[in-house]
Formats: sequence, C-alpha cells, structure tokens
Amino acid sequence: MSNDTLRDLSQNQLVRRLGVPRIPVLRRYAPGQPLLDGPALVGAVGAGRYAEQIRALLKDADIADAAGDGTVAAAVLDATGVRTLDDLAAVREFLTPAVRRLAPSGRLLLLGPEPDAGDVEAAAAAQALDGLVRSAAKEVRAGATANLLVVHPDAPPAATDSAVRFFLSARSAYVDGQVVRVGVPVGPAQDPIGMDAPDEVVRPLAGRVAVVTGAARGIGAAIADTLARDGATVVAVDVPAAGESLSRVANRVGGTALQLDITTPDAADRLLAHVRERHGRLDVVVHNAGITRDKLLANMDADRWDAVLAVNLRAQLAINEALLADDLLSDTGRIVCIASTSGIAGNRGQTNYAASKAGVIGMVRALAPRFAERGVTVNAVAPGFIETEMTGKMPLGTREAGRRINSLRQGGLPVDVAETVGWLAEAETGGVTGQVVRVCGQSILGA
Ligand code: NAD
Repeated sequence: MSNDTLRDLSQNQLVRRLGVPRIPVLRRYAPGQPLLDGPALVGAVGAGRYAEQIRALLKDADIADAAGDGTVAAAVLDATGVRTLDDLAAVREFLTPAVRRLAPSGRLLLLGPEPDAGDVEAAAAAQALDGLVRSAAKEVRAGATANLLVVHPDAPPAATDSAVRFFLSARSAYVDGQVVRVGVPVGPAQDPIGMDAPDEVVRPLAGRVAVVTGAARGIGAAIADTLARDGATVVAVDVPAAGESLSRVANRVGGTALQLDITTPDAADRLLAHVRERHGRLDVVVHNAGITRDKLLANMDADRWDAVLAVNLRAQLAINEALLADDLLSDTGRIVCIASTSGIAGNRGQTNYAASKAGVIGMVRALAPRFAERGVTVNAVAPGFIETEMTGKMPLGTREAGRRINSLRQGGLPVDVAETVGWLAEAETGGVTGQVVRVCGQSILGA
C-alpha cells in the first residue's frame, strides 16, 4: 500500500464499479530496466533533422519500430521542420492514430523549432505546438505523458539524446505537459553514450562528485540516493540538528556528510573547502534545502520573511557567487536549484516562500549565460505536490485536492524530483540550461 489510499483502492474492479475512476500506477525507473517496455513509433514532419538520430538511439536501446497497428510505448515526432499551418496539419495526422495506440505509461514526445521571429507563420506554427502538446498531455490516459522539446536550430542532433532518453524513460514518470529548450551544448563536446558504453547508460554520473543541500530527509535524501545510484559520490549537507539522519544518508550512499547551516556567513567557504579536501573535484551542486513559514501577507512578520528568503534564496546566491569566483566546479559542472510550482502560480499564505522560489527561477536565468562559457549549466526543478512528511501532515481535504489537480491525478514521489535532478546533472545534458522543469504531473497550478 502507498499513502495514496484512493489510488490503491481504484485498482480494484469492484471499487471502480462504484464509479471511482482508476488512478494509474506510474511506471518508475529501476536500474537495468529497458528504456521503453514496447515498440516506438518515430515520425518527422518537414525537414526534421532529428528523427534519424532518435531512431539510432532507440535501436541502440533495443527498442523495436512499431509495426502494424498494435500498442506503442512511445510516439516521437520530429516536428522541428514545422513552418506552416499545413505542416501543423501533418503533425495532427501523425498524432491522432498514434495517441489511440499509446500504451499505459506511454510517452508522446515532440521536438519543435524555436519560433522564427523573421517569419510570422513559422513563429505561429512553432508556438502552436506548445498548446497542442499541453492539451494532449491532458488527454492521454493511464499514466501516459506528453512533452515538447524546443530545439535550437544550431543544436547538433546528438544534443537532444539525453533529453529524449529522459522523457521516454520511466525516470520522467511525473513530468508531464512540459516544454524544455535544448540548445547547443555548453562547454567541451561530450562523447555520446552508445551501445559500446552500457555502463554509462546505467551509471551516467560515474566519477562525478555531487553536493546536495538539505540531504538529511525528504526530497534531498531521495536526490542523494538517486545520484549515488547513478554513480556519483555524494556530499550530503544539512544543519547540525539533523546530524544523525544526515550521517545515515551519507553512509547509505557511501558519500561524506557535512553539517552546515547554509545561511551562515562562511557557509560557501566551508562547503568548497570540504569538497576540495575530501574529494578534490566538484561536478554537481543541488540546492535543495528549503523551508516554509506560511502566513497571510497581512500577518507576515519580518522574521518569517527573512528566514525563508535566507535559506531558499540568499544562501543559494552566496554559494553560486562563490562557485563563479572559484575554479573547483568542473567544465561539465551542473547546478540544479529546487524551486516550486508555488513560485510560478503563487499560493495563499506563501508570499515569502513563493517570492523565494520565483527568485530562484530569476537567479537561474541570470546565471545560466554567466556559467555557460565555463561549460556549466544552471537549471531549476519546480516540484508540485510531492508525497513527503510535509504534505502528509496537511489536512485530508487540502491533501486530496493537492494530489488530484493534475493530469496524472496523484502526487509525485521524492524520487520523481530526484530523477529529474539526476538527468540535469549528467555531463551529457549540456544543451539544457536556464530552464525550469516542473515535476508536477501537469498540475493546473502554474504555467
Ligand atoms: P524537508 O523539510 O523534508 O527537507 C528540507 C531539508 O533542508 C531538511 O533536512 C532541513 O534540515 C534542511 N535545511 C533547512 N534549512 C537548512 C539550512 N539553513 N542549512 C542546511 N540545510 C537546511 O523538505 P522537502 O519536502 O524534502 O523539500 C525539499 C525542497 O523541495 C525544498 O526546497 C522545498 O521547498 C522543495 N519543494 C517541496 C515540495 C513538496 O511537496 N514537498 C514541493 C515543492 C518544492
């Protein structure tokens, strides 16, 4: 049994006869699992440059081409060549039968062009894909998802591999209705992952050192577990008061523990000194530590405001500033900042929290170009309703509402956030920077 009783009950036919719809059990990733659990349909509209690359990637992963009219585990359309409304009609022509064939936990993935400001119809057609995919995500059933990659015209075909692999795999179980830009990879060229390197697919973070703040429990502990599973050495950071559970996490993942309140003035120096002395390199920084101190704005006092801003934003700004000034972060460095859908849509009682999380998004967008020349990406992951101790303590009504107001009709798990962080932490994900990826099952809150 999970802690989502309604979802568990809805698997029972007798309960469904009472009119309770089935809430899908999502396919989640386990090492060694095939990329997809069935064949894939791949198409292209216009002069798409990526379909061949995707076919090769699927072939490497031993995924069969969908023949006949049976179910498909994924339908992938290279729509980067779309420039006209006639091209859009061809997109519809591919998708309509494909959607009918989509298996439970299936994947609809479109690659679209960046809107071309010099061609009005092309810009309109490119943006139309956004509305189409977000609507399709609301229509596909049984745990299936739909997402769009907007690809920069200069991005080489291999630049899309890591995003295609993530969005097709079970790692993206709770990432739905998202639009993510893929550009020319920052920094030095990476060797593409192929059949000859199966270990890289299973352990894409092998040899990398990753700092995770707030790692003693909740989402941070899941991030530590997932990054370690994927091969990283984890530096688990949390406040001294959480020291015992922090050591447990660090021991479990075979990493090191650093007891550190990230709001102290020398936090960035101590963090970098620990990593330098104990590990000698740094590849990934995950800013996950966060707190809430909810109060309506009318009753918001300076203490609540300052405490939330200090942990959720000020500390991240200081550490990132130190990373910019230092050369410890490697030339495939990845900074991942945990935001929240509250920072996108707003939330009653959370002016302080939403300000801090929206601030994180602003910080990420401003930092991405500064770090790009060093080969470092900076992205935000914005969780929606995640089943944690915190959400478990909500009143039942609020909790039920939070869980159901998304396209997958359930809350996400900490591991769903962790898988997205893991993807952005890969050296191969150099084409994704300055982005906000929501892990929210396409919650109706936020854009
Ligand atoms: P949590 O409270 O379970 O864990 C947060 C961790 O951060 C704790 O271990 C805490 O000790 C640590 N921490 C707090 N202040 C710190 C400081 N000054 N220095 C070092 N560590 C500190 O929270 P969670 O639910 O796991 O959330 C993790 C992140 O995800 C947070 O940034 C949160 O805002 C974000 N988030 C959570 C949800 C959700 O549904 N749970 C939704 C959206 C965003």
